[in-house]
Amino acid sequence: MKRVLVANRGEIAVRIIRACREMGIETVAIYSTEDRDAMHVKMATLAVCVGAAPSSESYLNIQNIVSAAVETKCDGVHPGFGFLSENAHFVETLEQCGIKFIGPSASSIRTMGDKARAREVMMKCGMPVVPGSDGEVDSIREAKRIAKDIGYPVLIKASAGGGGRGMRIAHSPEEIENAFNTAKQEAMSCFGNDGVYIEKYIVNPKHIELQILADEHGNVVHLGERECSIQRRNQKIIEEAPAKVITSALRKKMGEDSVAAAKAAGYTNAGTIEFVLDKEGNYYFIEMNTRIQVEHPVTEMITGINIVREQIRIASGQPLSFAQKDIKISGHAIECRINAEDIHKDFMPAPGTVSFLHFPGGYNTRVDSALYSGCKISPHYDSMIAKIIVKGDTRMEAIKRMRRALEELLVDGVKTNQDFLYLILYNFDFVKGKYDTGFVEKYKDKLINI
Ligand code: ADP
Repeated sequence: MKRVLVANRGEIAVRIIRACREMGIETVAIYSTEDRDAMHVKMATLAVCVGAAPSSESYLNIQNIVSAAVETKCDGVHPGFGFLSENAHFVETLEQCGIKFIGPSASSIRTMGDKARAREVMMKCGMPVVPGSDGEVDSIREAKRIAKDIGYPVLIKASAGGGGRGMRIAHSPEEIENAFNTAKQEAMSCFGNDGVYIEKYIVNPKHIELQILADEHGNVVHLGERECSIQRRNQKIIEEAPAKVITSALRKKMGEDSVAAAKAAGYTNAGTIEFVLDKEGNYYFIEMNTRIQVEHPVTEMITGINIVREQIRIASGQPLSFAQKDIKISGHAIECRINAEDIHKDFMPAPGTVSFLHFPGGYNTRVDSALYSGCKISPHYDSMIAKIIVKGDTRMEAIKRMRRALEELLVDGVKTNQDFLYLILYNFDFVKGKYDTGFVEKYKDKLINI
């Protein structure tokens, strides 16, 4: 590839531009009128304004983005995460214009984007899935019948779900009607599709996910797992790799299952298979994300593999340059997501102007961000403003390094979740690795009221 349009903004756009520059590939940034002075615009070779501040008019504007790619003679488009990264129609429109989408095929995106269908595909590959419905559930009666079969509590989940939305728990038959209706309503308003399915609700599991890479020649490898159980309202805030609870035997098994499923589904490019892991060590598939993920740097830190670079190589038709046996995991990495939000006002987004900024640095410390002193954080977009990633020889060393990095971080002018993250790194259960997806709810008050 010679020139790539980056269909995103913020830190991930900067991350992709950096990879392209290192590969000698020119980049085209897109931006909204709100982002005229944004870092990704300054860093790219060229930049094209694609619309007004609301994402629906700019970063989600397929027509304007594809036109920009054609006009600037790009041969590839990297979507980053969010926005159009899992939009099959976008992929097809690019293909019609002879431009390569740096990601999986439109059909893989469609199949995996429909979570009820993805479950069916995974079951066929022999992958363990959470006990639940075969496909979508159309009525409250059917929902009650299935829930009785699998046992309460159950989760009613949107087939088109994402970002933790369109998901409701029912603890008893009496709660089914309300959970079913509210999940459907939320799914309709968030995704324009009210299809729902049912899964057994695994109480306080761990969220474990496997990173895979698949080229267009049938080679598939996995890069080990990430532990993402530190979540607030189903949104990850701290991730680590490897996961303390995963033994090498379990990693091998989950990795083999993931690779087999990706092969059977004819999947290409980077993808993540997400699982919940129960207290007995059983893992169950929950969904596949068909894009680069926010937390990919922790995997890069422990494997030494530049995932964005590999995505571009794969999309260029090149075979993977390594086999499974070449992938070695070394050390332990942790990522903290810095969000511009007010932890004392229920984590409400807190946009504003950054009056002074200082990022941590030093040995095995990485910062992915598009922030600079004086920049404006817009209320129109996601509140994640930086990712801090550290690596240590051991998990404890990584924890200490992250504490030190957060001590160095200065973001003046806007409120952030920095102190909240810092306290988690001192929590005894966190330090021992004894935590699950219920961690933040359990300790929230202690972590906020200092
Ligand atoms: P989304 O696509 O909205 O992020 P996921 O299916 O990936 O939805 O689930 C998000 C989070 O919700 C998981 O990380 C986990 O914490 C929780 N979750 C999802 N399914 C289950 C389940 N069956 N039992 C318990 N927790 C679940």
